[in-house]
Amino acid sequence: MNSCLFCSIIKGDVKGDIVYQDESVVAFRDIHPKAPVHILIVPRKHIATLLDLEQGDKGLMGDIFYAATRLAKDKGISEDGFRVVLNCGPGAGQSVYHIHFHMLGGRSFSWPPG
Ligand code: 5GP
Ligand code: ZN
Repeated sequence: MNSCLFCSIIKGDVKGDIVYQDESVVAFRDIHPKAPVHILIVPRKHIATLLDLEQGDKGLMGDIFYAATRLAKDKGISEDGFRVVLNCGPGAGQSVYHIHFHMLGGRSFSWPPG
C-alpha cells in the first residue's frame, strides 16, 4: 500500500494538482490529460480495483459521483456534457491499482470507446 501512487498523492508525499477534496474523496488533474478537462476522482481509502469493492464501500461510490457533479459544474463542462470512466483490470487499460474515475470534458467523445 505504501508504494501506491495515488495514496502518495492523497497524503501529499507526491505532488498532485488537487481540484476537490472532502472527507472521503480527492480529485486531481491527470498528468497526461486526454481532454481539456481530465480529472481523476479517487477515494481516500485504498481499493485496488472495482472488483475489490466491499459492502461497506457502497456509500463511498455515491460520494464519488456527488463529487463528479460538483466538479462538472465547477469546471464548466456540465452543459456540453462529459464522460466518467473507470478502467478495471489490464484488459481495460487500468495502470494504477487504486480505484479511480476519469472525468473527461471540454470536447466531444465518440462511442464506443477504443
Ligand atoms: P488508468 O490507466 O489506470 O485507468 O489511469 C491512470 C491515470 O493516471 C492515467 O490517465 C495517467 O495519465 C494518470 N497518472 C499516472 N501517473 C500520474 C501521476 O503521477 N500524477 C497524476 N496526476 N496522474 C497520473
Ligand atoms: Zn492507494
